[in-house]
Amino acid sequence: MRKIEVGVLGATGMVGQMYVRLLENHPWFEVSYVAASPRSAGKTYSNAVAGRWHMQTEIPKNVRQLRVEDASSVEKAVGKCSFVFSALEMDKQAIRDLENKYAQNDIPVVSNASAHRWTEDVPMLIPEVNPHHLDIIPIQKKNHGWKRGFVVVKPNCSIQSYITPIFALEKAGFKVSKMIVTTLQAVSGAGYPGVASLDIVDNVVPFIGGEEEKSEKEPLKILGKIENGKIVNNESIKISAHCNRVPVHDGHTACVSFQFAERKPSKEQVIQIWRGFRSLPQELKLPFAPEQPIIYREEENRPQPRKDRDNDKGMAITMGRLRECNVFDYRFVGLSHNTIRGAAGGGILNAELLKAKNLL
Ligand code: NAP
Repeated sequence: MRKIEVGVLGATGMVGQMYVRLLENHPWFEVSYVAASPRSAGKTYSNAVAGRWHMQTEIPKNVRQLRVEDASSVEKAVGKCSFVFSALEMDKQAIRDLENKYAQNDIPVVSNASAHRWTEDVPMLIPEVNPHHLDIIPIQKKNHGWKRGFVVVKPNCSIQSYITPIFALEKAGFKVSKMIVTTLQAVSGAGYPGVASLDIVDNVVPFIGGEEEKSEKEPLKILGKIENGKIVNNESIKISAHCNRVPVHDGHTACVSFQFAERKPSKEQVIQIWRGFRSLPQELKLPFAPEQPIIYREEENRPQPRKDRDNDKGMAITMGRLRECNVFDYRFVGLSHNTIRGAAGGGILNAELLKAKNLL
């Protein structure tokens, strides 16, 4: 099978590099186009990332000599790739405008940026949770007069650690009404150079700008439904979030207390539901889909970032410590890899789903 040629916008950044790494040897996609800021434009990819290649594997051979283009010169991408992954870090309005411009030029955009997460006709996807939100794409195309292009986004990098297990319970018929989430987020989530080492070594920073609002609100859209040409939030869950930056390289942990709306399953039932949870990416056997999206561990000291973040290619969510809560019904700990499942790997899974649904 001839591979589909793809572009990476923001290819020189932390998430962009992870795309380049994860797409090496991908069975369906091949990186043929890389773009970043004017600072990197004109250089070969290996020169543009010299001294700041953060991956633990070498730069893939097929990307080393690609010329980095200025991401704002959309016309350069036309004819060089079938769609782009967007991992740009710049002003939100500028990202929205640029992603729209790619779509307008018949280049679909699978984005990691938060810019379009609240656009009413843009799906914010976790493929195991809301694949049906892709039904809004024909409406989005019609709204803009786009023929082939469209924009799909993925949510914030910590959300799958707690929303996938909550969704699995809802799917099994146990509605959840309230949750309190405390996240312990890795430094790689802030990009490079990110948080200064003097701020984070031997320390915890109890504030990440904008993160608590994202953690509380994005799940409402993901669990929402399409109504009158828009994605309407599910307001039946109330979430309160505390987000902390911790001195961990990769892997966002979430400690969660939650309450059911009506019926409360037993602890054994909850674990059985999590372990048995499968969804469309598993049915379609998408290359990046974890075989078991939720892994539950019995040990009282798991999950841990260093030991559990890489489970199933870094795409599985590892859970543990389900126990009674003195305030709500239960509490648990969830963990996932923030730059794989929470960023580039999640974006690749979104693209695989789009391909499987003949949208690319
Ligand atoms: P990063 O390491 O700071 O990389 C930013 C990228 O954007 C670089 O390639 C940079 O190019 C490019 N860029 C900056 N200004 C630009 C401009 N004016 N025009 C074109 N390109 C420009 O950031 P990151 O951590 O990879 O994050 C990328 C995006 O993913 C952000 O929107 C972030 O919120 C989101 N995200 C990150 C994570 C994570 O875990 N890190 C998780 C989920 C989502 P140069 O190298 O040329 O400057």
